[in-house]
Amino acid sequence: MTQPSTAVQASGRLRAAFLAPDVAGTVRWLPDAVLTWQGGRIVALEPAARAETLPHENLLVLPGFVDLHCHWPQSHVRGAFSGQLLPWLRDSIWPAEAAFADDAVARERAHTFFVEAIAAGTCAGLLFGPPFFSASRICAAVAPRGFFEGPALMEVNAPAELACPSEQILHDIEGLPAEARRTVVVSPRFAPCMSQAGLAAAGQFAARLGLAVQSHLSENQDEVAWVRALFPSAQDYTDVYDRAGLLSPRTVMAHGIHLSERELARLAHSGTVLAHCPTSNEALGSGRMDLARVRAHGVRWVLATDVGAGPLLSQLDVMRACLEVHARAPVAPVTATETLCRATASPGAFLADLQPELAGLGTLGVGAPAHLVLFQQPLPALDAESALRGLLAQPRAALETLPQSVYLWGALQHSPARHTTPTP
Ligand SMILES: [Zn+2]
Repeated sequence: MTQPSTAVQASGRLRAAFLAPDVAGTVRWLPDAVLTWQGGRIVALEPAARAETLPHENLLVLPGFVDLHCHWPQSHVRGAFSGQLLPWLRDSIWPAEAAFADDAVARERAHTFFVEAIAAGTCAGLLFGPPFFSASRICAAVAPRGFFEGPALMEVNAPAELACPSEQILHDIEGLPAEARRTVVVSPRFAPCMSQAGLAAAGQFAARLGLAVQSHLSENQDEVAWVRALFPSAQDYTDVYDRAGLLSPRTVMAHGIHLSERELARLAHSGTVLAHCPTSNEALGSGRMDLARVRAHGVRWVLATDVGAGPLLSQLDVMRACLEVHARAPVAPVTATETLCRATASPGAFLADLQPELAGLGTLGVGAPAHLVLFQQPLPALDAESALRGLLAQPRAALETLPQSVYLWGALQHSPARHTTPTP
């Protein structure tokens, strides 16, 4: 392998086996190919020529994962707590997030989060922050290009140390320089923590500034019942967000487990993306997203970790869980190659719509960011499906640290011998 020349103008060539997913849901299998990148972007991926002198590295290479639903201030307690959603939030997660009012805590944990997420192969994503604007700015200062983040908005039904009027945080966001503002995600934590007026203000703000939106939707039956009681004039949970103008192709809603036909149709029509988080759903006993109905309605969906309910930062673990939970009746057949597309190319396209410089994110296409995750090739494989299944057959506990090396914008960010600070 030719090592990158510098961290800024990263260039290199690599001969290995590649899995190249695309937004159409197919994965190209190249058992012996050469990838070339220059200036941090891919310029070619071609089968190795007969006269190729570069040695095959016996590596399996995937594009960097893209995680559209992850709480960075919960990463240090990922998988540490259990229980149903609402008591889990009140008793464990919110007290843990309160510590991020201290900038020194936020600085240390933001740095650790990116080191660990990149080591797991995640190279871009949408992050939920703690409900503190200053912690959010600390995260943004160390976030590699391609990560978007927003402070959680929590107005009501929240501990006093976490509650804050949305107007104040939105005002702070608006005061940022335009360049800094464009990676901010408007992030109402979930409907029960918001007033109707606060939700509407968030919706108007996101639309006016063209910002992404993220929240949670219909994760748990108790939560759905609570929303019904809090917003009696809304048709359903989805309608609470819809009437606030929060559903659009720039919106990611996590979970969407307990949804009616009307809600699924409305999500599809609005272009909203559902983040399917099977490891989180299993951990909190929330249920299983109805993939067959999501597909039937044509709702956009991606796979995401939902750390810290999800116990690992690894999208490989989420892909493994997706295959496992949907293999049980009632069956919604899913292939390993589809799970890869939902963890790379599909969420990559969502972020590229927000920022054109990310075009091709989550693929190995020409012009795409050279985000590369390198694995020791487990076993010889005949096709993309068997190559991926071989990778996912590794012990679950090993998946988070399975990548041998990770390149971000063509520069080596992680290898077992080297834990570097991500390049901003
Ligand atoms: Zn979440």
